[in-house]
Amino acid sequence: MNVSPLSKPKRIAVIGAGEVGSTTAYTLFLRKRAEEIVLIDIAKKKALGDALDMSHGLPFVGGVKVWAGEYSDCADADIIIVTAGAAQRPGETRQDLLGRNASIIQQIVREIVAHNQRGIILMATNPVDVLSYLAWKTSGWESSRVIGSGTLLDSARFRYLIGNELGVDPRSVHAHIVGEHGDTELPVWSRANITGVPIEFSSEAKQSIYEQTKQAAYQIIEAKGYTSYAIALALDRICAAILSDEHAVLNVSTLLTDYHGISDTYLGVPCVVGRSGVERVIDLGPSESEFALLQASAKALKTRIDWAMNAIS
Ligand code: NAD
Repeated sequence: MNVSPLSKPKRIAVIGAGEVGSTTAYTLFLRKRAEEIVLIDIAKKKALGDALDMSHGLPFVGGVKVWAGEYSDCADADIIIVTAGAAQRPGETRQDLLGRNASIIQQIVREIVAHNQRGIILMATNPVDVLSYLAWKTSGWESSRVIGSGTLLDSARFRYLIGNELGVDPRSVHAHIVGEHGDTELPVWSRANITGVPIEFSSEAKQSIYEQTKQAAYQIIEAKGYTSYAIALALDRICAAILSDEHAVLNVSTLLTDYHGISDTYLGVPCVVGRSGVERVIDLGPSESEFALLQASAKALKTRIDWAMNAIS
């Protein structure tokens, strides 16, 4: 009997086995998002510990191989998730941190592309929009295959808060945060709806939900030192859209070219995501005031992108 060869197992490489990386690997593992998950970190013992710990759960999960590996293991990866980075040192400015993370990401992406030319790089390290641009430039790949987690997490927080306010499952809330994953991000209230019905809130309620969305990361970091669970689920969601060729609309960070006049900047906007990465950008058609905020966010990002590109050249 002639049996066709089994297709290659799906592989996801997670670079950086810190709080975000290990929680992401565990989420991918529990959801069996790929048959192979490899963790890569300069802290080799941490990656090894995580890989062993997860592997010991295989009798309860099954069907996923997890190991601590090297950059050469990126060779067969369909998706390489980058969560590695330096943490802020006491007294260090955000700009200094950006300079250090920019050169770390440049080195990591050089390692990835030395072994893999066909995968998709999914960036999570902050500042994610700036570093996604830098990763794209360093890779030499088409921008569709270098994606940032963008405002997917922020939009999830926004939908959760709106759903809470209205007593509706957040999965039924269609609402977007766009722009920078950070302080200049903005809510697109003009398009927010539940099954097509516009959301009517007072301007105070809107401002409060927006502020809570923006402050969420600070609040969680203040409480437990880092954020991990929701970002891990957001990264898993993007992996699902890619690996199952879903053509799902997700607010990821992508290179914008002449998007309402915004060009040569990565920022979070609704994108159709499938097997080839970002297939296209959806124009949300923001209101005039929202559009002005989006342009301001893009301008702020462009300045930081230019600074980071200079810092590593
Ligand atoms: P962490 O300090 O716990 O982990 C970082 C890991 O990176 C460490 O294990 C470290 O050893 C590793 N690392 C450092 N340099 C490396 C290198 N050159 N090669 C390989 N590994 C290296 O930090 P964390 O809490 O996991 O956060 C990681 C990043 O994710 C941060 O930049 C954080 O701001 C970001 N983050 C992004 C989002 C988002 O929505 N995009 C959400 C949460 C956190």
